[in-house]
Amino acid sequence: MTGDMESPRRHERSTQEGYIWGSMRRTALILGSGLLLSVAFWNSVTWHLQRFWGASGYFWQTQWEKLLSTFEGNESILFIIGTALVPGLCFWGFNGLLLVVDTTGKPNFISRYRIQLGKNEPVDPVKLRQSIPTVLFNQTMISLPMLVIFYPFFKWRGDPCCQELPTFHWFLVELALFTLVEEILFYYSHRLLHHPTLYKKIHKKHHEWTAPIGVISIYAHPIEHVVSNMLPVLVGPLAMGSHLSSITVWLSLALIITTISHCGYHLPFLPSPEFHDYHHLKFNQCYGVLGVLDHLHGTDIMFKQTKAYERHVLLLGFTPLSESIPDPPKKMESPLGPSGLFPHK
Ligand SMILES: [Zn+2]
Ligand SMILES: [Zn+2]
Repeated sequence: MTGDMESPRRHERSTQEGYIWGSMRRTALILGSGLLLSVAFWNSVTWHLQRFWGASGYFWQTQWEKLLSTFEGNESILFIIGTALVPGLCFWGFNGLLLVVDTTGKPNFISRYRIQLGKNEPVDPVKLRQSIPTVLFNQTMISLPMLVIFYPFFKWRGDPCCQELPTFHWFLVELALFTLVEEILFYYSHRLLHHPTLYKKIHKKHHEWTAPIGVISIYAHPIEHVVSNMLPVLVGPLAMGSHLSSITVWLSLALIITTISHCGYHLPFLPSPEFHDYHHLKFNQCYGVLGVLDHLHGTDIMFKQTKAYERHVLLLGFTPLSESIPDPPKKMESPLGPSGLFPHK
């Protein structure tokens, strides 16, 4: 009862700090035991997958050796093609299609899956035109030089252009580890970027889009692009001394997934973008990628009370979730809204 006597603000802060440390300890414990369990799980799952992979493994090994002999003596160029060009083409190929839908609203069978109804119908062409140069700047002037700088470190950790391809089994283990490392580094760096000072100077740019679209995934201040976009995906492969083939697949996959989580459409048979879309809408919820750390740190409590949370599933049919799980009528919401508690704008 003595807590009631303290000034409510200080009490709230110390409770919050205690809560953060407590939940960080819990997080470390759960992640540790989770890692052990997943290793055991992978061993049985990948044994089955390896049987399917078997024959085609030789095919890929031959293709890789052909590629290596073409670039003999120029492995650094092959590294840049694999880490910058291929993932970049995946990004623009996918985003090119999404931009057609964003700017024209057609085809209707995609635009009907829009998450924030009435937003970006169609997207503001001026705002879009102003954003694209930042995306291109981040790719060419930040990501590319960063990969060139990182190449010697990748070589130091292990040979990314080694003649032997990793086994499918090892590749899957690596993907799981990269995902875990990304979740940890992205969650904490992203949460740090929401500190009022850093938010105002750095992260506000990314949040200019409260209803994001695909390309906005890398629309960010250069510092944010290095710390929160690039490092979380590069540290895993660097620590593991990974093969270029794994790095290429991982970076392409990471770019496609971040595009999906920003695209603004909850499409069938693709990962749900509701989580990060809600982050753009409300600012102080859902900081991570997988949502594991948000669950452990309680930064998804408000999200869990929304219809968006009910819609945060893999859509396995063709009825848009905005139709099957519609939002409650507007008057039901508090006039401040959840974000009113911690205004960040
Ligand atoms: Zn975002
Ligand atoms: Zn944010």
